[in-house]
Amino acid sequence: MTEPTREELLARVAHLEAALAATPYMPELPAEHDGEPITWRPWEEAPVILCAHAGDLNACWACAHPGPSLLAFGLAGPGEPRIRFNAHRCPSCQEMRVYAELAEVAYSPPRTVVRTPSSGQ
Ligand SMILES: [Zn+2]
Repeated sequence: MTEPTREELLARVAHLEAALAATPYMPELPAEHDGEPITWRPWEEAPVILCAHAGDLNACWACAHPGPSLLAFGLAGPGEPRIRFNAHRCPSCQEMRVYAELAEVAYSPPRTVVRTPSSGQ
């Protein structure tokens, strides 16, 4: 058996990359968390965040897709299920993050700025 040539390997890689690109892929949302089943609502476009001071918060940091990202809510809980999970997914690279009920519901930026001491002053 002869070793494949570099050209043959490159052709094989190109073929596999094309097959991968042609395969629709979407990460699977978790069906449960801590034994609690989750019912997911369909993916929807996340609201576009407009904040000139924070930079572009809508772009994907992993692949630089301009966004908006996709958002899905997961319902769970005893009795009447309520939104307890949310998932964010990039429509391009499909990076996905799932959050359980966020403890932090608001954020206010610091009012003071930490300054590094300037030399000689
Ligand atoms: Zn991405």
